[in-house]
Amino acid sequence: MSKSSRKTFLTKSLYLVTSLIFIERGLGFSSEVTAENKPSGTIPEGLSPVSESDPTAKALGFHQDAKHTDFTLNPERKEPSAKNQFCKHCAQYTKLNDAWGKCNIISAGVVSSLGWCSAWSQKM
Ligand code: SF4
Repeated sequence: MSKSSRKTFLTKSLYLVTSLIFIERGLGFSSEVTAENKPSGTIPEGLSPVSESDPTAKALGFHQDAKHTDFTLNPERKEPSAKNQFCKHCAQYTKLNDAWGKCNIISAGVVSSLGWCSAWSQKM
């Protein structure tokens, strides 16, 4: 690789990384999902993740990763005030480990601690 093409590659890479950071911050997730605090627990034995195509999950706009929320259907999730709305902070969530828990509403498996659905309500 020539010196100028390496410089071009590095410059484009820097633009790409910077753009991704701005996009992520714009969606309000940067304070919650970072490399340091990404949940690492394994799926509890004998259980499986709720399928996002489960009828209840689908009706509530549930995603195992809140970043995949359909913001056209759920614009409130994009608001800065909703940036900490994750399953792990929901009143319906019972923690099984750092990454997974049970939901009282979508009960066909386990939900990710960083999931979200439109039934979210603040855990007291
Ligand atoms: S009700 Fe709460 S715990 Fe259950 S899927 Fe929705 S946000 Fe997650």
